[in-house]
Amino acid sequence: MNAQDSFGDLEAQSLFCPQCQKAQPVRLKLLLVLPNGEKYAYYCRVCGAELGSKTERNPPESPTFGLP
Ligand SMILES: [Zn+2]
Repeated sequence: MNAQDSFGDLEAQSLFCPQCQKAQPVRLKLLLVLPNGEKYAYYCRVCGAELGSKTERNPPESPTFGLP
């Protein structure tokens, strides 16, 4: 079932937590701001274990006209 495949990135999700041995709600924490995006990490809300990370790429705000 992937009915909610396209829901918002910052919404709460559940991921399997190896410490808790079951799926738990996660907290998303901003780790790093990159020139072209932001890196986030997921943490278990119950035990605080890091469950993974992702990089959100920001689309360029303006087209690049720099190329000759
Ligand atoms: Zn946990």
